[in-house]
Amino acid sequence: MLDPKCKKCRRVGEKLFLKGERCFSQKCAMIRKPYRPGLHGKSRRRRRLSEYGQQLIEKQKVRLLYGVSEKQFKNYVKAIAPKKGDKGELLLTNLETRLDNVIFRLGWAKSRALARQIVNHGHILVNQRKLDIPSYQVKKGDQIQIKEKIKKSPIFKDLKTILNKYEAPSWLGLDKEKPEGQVLALPKTEDVGKVGEMGMIIEFYSR
Ligand code: SF4
Repeated sequence: MLDPKCKKCRRVGEKLFLKGERCFSQKCAMIRKPYRPGLHGKSRRRRRLSEYGQQLIEKQKVRLLYGVSEKQFKNYVKAIAPKKGDKGELLLTNLETRLDNVIFRLGWAKSRALARQIVNHGHILVNQRKLDIPSYQVKKGDQIQIKEKIKKSPIFKDLKTILNKYEAPSWLGLDKEKPEGQVLALPKTEDVGKVGEMGMIIEFYSR
């Protein structure tokens, strides 16, 4: 039986890294079955997608990658509408600066879903205060820590070893010893790399 999370990857045709370690192994469903789920998924003839269809897929891909609901995602797009500048980049910045994503980017969780649980359970401090809202938008200068008493818990057991081999993105400072993170700057497209066609997503919602 195919895992529901893996099904999401196969539906959008890209790895969304929703299952932690498994995503980097040969067990990944996108390696074993790199075609759409369903009866005709394996068929060689791929349906040509309309412009709308392509935009929809991009939107789904990025939404599922960050693990946000349709309503939340729509709100992100709505919030940037009056702002000046590259809307696609603004959307990316807002998604990247979610606290759960930051925990994932700091290497403290193997997936965004796990990062969300860590935040939800109140294990994270932002500027020395407990913050248990995964959608909290971090700001430049914010300091992020793991609660002292939770550092020795099984979830963070191998963290130091993992971090020794990990490089955080340039917009985040990471003290691997403590461990502690700091937001050095708000992320731009070049800091994040391509997560999807953000312009297509903006167009999707401007219909
Ligand atoms: Fe499943 Fe992860 Fe592979 Fe996606 S990337 S199919 S979630 S194992």
